[in-house]
Amino acid sequence: MKNIGIGASVPGRYWHGLADGRLQCDLCPRECKLHGGQRGLCFVRAREGNQIVLTTYGRSSGFCLDPIEKKPLNHFLPGTSVLSFGTAGCNLTCKFCQNWDISKARADDRLQSQASPEAIAQAAVQSGARSVAFTYNDPVIFLEYAVDVAAACRDAGVKTVAVTAGYIGEAARPEFFAAMDAANIDLKGFTQDFYRKLCTGSLGAVLDTLSFVKHETKTWLEITTLLIPGENDSSQEVSALSEWVMGNLGPDVPVHFTAFHPDWKMRDIAPTPPSRLKRARQIAQDAGLRYVYTGNIHDEAGQSTYCQRCGACLIGRDGYAITSWGLDAQGCCSACGALCPGIFEPSPGRWGARRAPLIVAAA
Ligand code: SF4
Repeated sequence: MKNIGIGASVPGRYWHGLADGRLQCDLCPRECKLHGGQRGLCFVRAREGNQIVLTTYGRSSGFCLDPIEKKPLNHFLPGTSVLSFGTAGCNLTCKFCQNWDISKARADDRLQSQASPEAIAQAAVQSGARSVAFTYNDPVIFLEYAVDVAAACRDAGVKTVAVTAGYIGEAARPEFFAAMDAANIDLKGFTQDFYRKLCTGSLGAVLDTLSFVKHETKTWLEITTLLIPGENDSSQEVSALSEWVMGNLGPDVPVHFTAFHPDWKMRDIAPTPPSRLKRARQIAQDAGLRYVYTGNIHDEAGQSTYCQRCGACLIGRDGYAITSWGLDAQGCCSACGALCPGIFEPSPGRWGARRAPLIVAAA
């Protein structure tokens, strides 16, 4: 902890002054321009005096041990537990948000837990978690806290995971992703209209982040698209998305198509039929993507990992549980020796599908 009280406002990075006296936040593409006393759209960044601050440093909505497959990450330390936490607020306004109680929360409503970066790293070590995930709400908006937690985790031999929409400004991308060993980035749809209408965001900024992470960092990357019936699940849109990933990121970036459930401001749309998810998976595979998964449904075949050369099952999954293991100690297919891209240990973890709340001491 860097000489700051837990739960304090800390100076924010990535902003500059404007000629008219306002301060512009450059952390995300919204570029909020703040007068004295104002907060940004994310609510957790505010102007105090002549600077922009993060108001939620050291504060969390609670801690939980999850299966890493729940993030979802299928090629990153399979079978291990991940210490997961979030804060409050968000920089997108998705009408279909599945974590709206956290992302739409005002800080004082939700941030019951306080913990220093070192306390979080030690809690991960003591609980046997191999990684810490910044999740539930978007860690971009609490970058200063996330980066400090990540540094403490690395000192303790614990890896770090960002679950994010990738809506981050160009200047902040290098610092944020340099701190992350893995990222699951939401690609929420593949039209600007979808991002504008349902998230008040922009597709181009997210595509730029995906390209940056793949080509300019060492962060392991997986992508998730929540398929919403009638909004982003047409064959044409899934095909365009898949071809973009294939052409710009290559065949080895895992893509997860997950099922929508009615939530937040979109309760009048039915859950995604499993057939729609399986069709999307087939379209992506036809485009050349090698590791495509379905999520939020029961589909063992669609959630297992197969060797891209010989077709052997490398990692069998039933939901979040590992059911078989066909990788050797180097992360290669036991049958034919082809490398499976990802970050693997010689054997899978044994955490299973459990979810366990965790108390983390403040200091
Ligand atoms: S991080 Fe928050 S304050 Fe900064 S531009 Fe984005 S929404 Fe606005």
